[in-house]
Amino acid sequence: MPDRDDERWMRRAIALARQAEATEGANPIGCVIVRDGSLIAEGFNEVDLRMDPTAHAEIVTMRRAGERLHTHEFRGTTMYTTLQPCGMCTMASIWGKIGRIVYGAGRDDVHRMYFEDRHLDTVDFIRDAFRDDLVLEGGLLVGECASLYVPPDANVPEDEQFNR
Ligand SMILES: [Zn+2]
Repeated sequence: MPDRDDERWMRRAIALARQAEATEGANPIGCVIVRDGSLIAEGFNEVDLRMDPTAHAEIVTMRRAGERLHTHEFRGTTMYTTLQPCGMCTMASIWGKIGRIVYGAGRDDVHRMYFEDRHLDTVDFIRDAFRDDLVLEGGLLVGECASLYVPPDANVPEDEQFNR
């Protein structure tokens, strides 16, 4: 169950997303990785900034966590992210042995252009993983997180949709 610490860290992720919004070439998805009440690493989506399709907020943050902790396994950590992780980031989190993933806005809270796949969901990857110790929780501060993104019912022209 989310507690006040969860809210505090999600607010940090939201602040990072807003920082990204104000940064040329960055995208407003924020992420923090925390262990035992301490910040390990943080980041935002740098795909357009780096011309790197893997530079999602979660991947950027895990890379920093690896540098900081000198390991590629982040057992006992919680990852907070403003938007439900995509398949790539979910799988990377599984590889990274993240203990718990908490996201704000879910797939259904935002426009479908934010996701590449039709049906495969974060939950499917986690269910299929050789992990029974990975916890996934969504919907924390969902209103604030969803307000960072184009709403599900918005009429966005095809050529302005970045995932089409
Ligand atoms: Zn991703």
